Amino acid sequence: MTSGRFEGRAAVVTGAAQGIGYAVAERLAAEGARVLMSDIAPAVADAAARLDQPHVVADVADAAQVAALFETADRELGSLDILVNNAGVIGRATKLLDLAEADFERVMAINVTAGLRTTQAAARRMTPRRSGAIVNLASVAAIMAGGDQIPYAVSKAAVKQLTAMTALSLAPFGIRVNAVGPGPVETPMVAAVTGGGPEGLRRVLSRIPMGRLGRPEEIAAIVAFLASDDASYLTGQTLFADGGRLALGYFAEPLADA
Ligand code: NAD
Repeated sequence: MTSGRFEGRAAVVTGAAQGIGYAVAERLAAEGARVLMSDIAPAVADAAARLDQPHVVADVADAAQVAALFETADRELGSLDILVNNAGVIGRATKLLDLAEADFERVMAINVTAGLRTTQAAARRMTPRRSGAIVNLASVAAIMAGGDQIPYAVSKAAVKQLTAMTALSLAPFGIRVNAVGPGPVETPMVAAVTGGGPEGLRRVLSRIPMGRLGRPEEIAAIVAFLASDDASYLTGQTLFADGGRLALGYFAEPLADA
């Protein structure tokens, strides 16, 4: 593995107790970063202990808890170089006419409003130093419609545009903002897409040209690239890491023999 790209740098990763967020924290730490691992789940304490990194339990949908999270970052890390807005929820697949406004708003609060809030908190710390990198987690759902995941898809489309808009705001300060848009990745969240059973998995894989789910480490590698100086001229972009899903196209027939 490439080592040392983040030597002496400090990062905050939200939703770092498991899944993609944990893999991101592990990758950044492996390349030398000090990573404040944050999650609403108390299990983040064990996850952070495994990586020998500091942690904080915080709900990103709660403004006071986010303020406390960044105060902990100031204390534990000193300066801040990297923010990874990874915490997110998918919610239940629901038909339009059964969808409750409160369920829509909850997904938007965690996936979108929280990302704005943490981006503002990070930018306040990064702008005086005129450097920094922010990476958001979007999804192929930002582009593709389907699966009765209305709040999730709308929220991830918003993350894609939040990425572009905040990139423009922060470019004059030497701060880059990009996003990764994964297809289905092997984490607890993916059961919401596959239904958790073999038939659902077969259906999902039938539309992925590479014929497999992504692994959290593969998404973490792209997050690390975007956060690193290797991406020094890249801002405002969403990179879709999806095994070819979007290239296949929404209206294509399922692949043969998949
Ligand atoms: P996951 O459910 O395995 O992990 C998400 C983490 O976020 C959990 O540890 C959870 O406790 C935390 N979290 C949830 N709500 C929170 C809140 N309010 N405050 C703080 N933490 C909170 O999910 P994952 O698959 O690792 O997904 C990570 C990100 O990647 C999400 O933004 C998700 O939308 C995105 N994504 C995932 C997939 C996939 O197939 N797994 C595909 C595309 C995008």
